Amino acid sequence: MNDGISILMYHQVGEFASMPTHRSTYCHVRRFRAQMAWLHRLRFHVLRMDEVLAALRGERPIPTRAVAVTFDDGYENFYEYAYPVLQRYGFPAMVYLISAHIGQPAQWFAADGRETPLLMSGERVRQLRTAGVDFGAHGARHIRLADLDLETARKDIVDSRAQLQSLLGEEIRHFCYPYGSHNAAVVELVRQAGFVTGVSCQRGAATADFDALALPRKAISYGDNLVGFFWKLAMKDEPKGEAVILQPIRGG
Ligand SMILES: [Zn+2]
Repeated sequence: MNDGISILMYHQVGEFASMPTHRSTYCHVRRFRAQMAWLHRLRFHVLRMDEVLAALRGERPIPTRAVAVTFDDGYENFYEYAYPVLQRYGFPAMVYLISAHIGQPAQWFAADGRETPLLMSGERVRQLRTAGVDFGAHGARHIRLADLDLETARKDIVDSRAQLQSLLGEEIRHFCYPYGSHNAAVVELVRQAGFVTGVSCQRGAATADFDALALPRKAISYGDNLVGFFWKLAMKDEPKGEAVILQPIRGG
């Protein structure tokens, strides 16, 4: 038995003066450096999402202290701040891209009166892919899929996969629900589109009890010092919202 896999969720990593709101979507690079250094020192096993899936399916053992490091939205600051740290330790990373917003400012920030950070260009994405970074889809337009009619949701999901496959010239297998918004119908659309994993913002460790298309994650927040970070790594489940568990990986 083990405690499953902690799929860590980051958004922006960089230098931020203070962060009164939206704290779960920022991580100061100083803290990120310390978090990765301790994962390395304590011999955590940092897995690719393909490896997460294989382990949850029982095709390979789930290592002890297993984590995956994921980044939502594909900010240019990933390249500037997070990537050099990951590279230092040889850690793999999964970055979920918004396929129709590549190279643009993250316009949804403007709705909150916040500055709009830049999302990575196609050139940057290809450069990082060559360097070994994994990329998955985060919708074409970054909209709440569970709020859409099914046909619009289906198109957004299918478009995101097609656009990224054309950008990278390879199969895109992993999906991340924008804002964590999903329900049973949306999960089925993602499965039908050809994705093999989907991650949400539901909190907890990923185990074979979950549908691979609706895996929980652990958000690392601006306020998390090392104690908070390791507390999140250790926890198996936090109180769940509406869990979407449709086809558990482990039967029965
Ligand atoms: Zn997002």
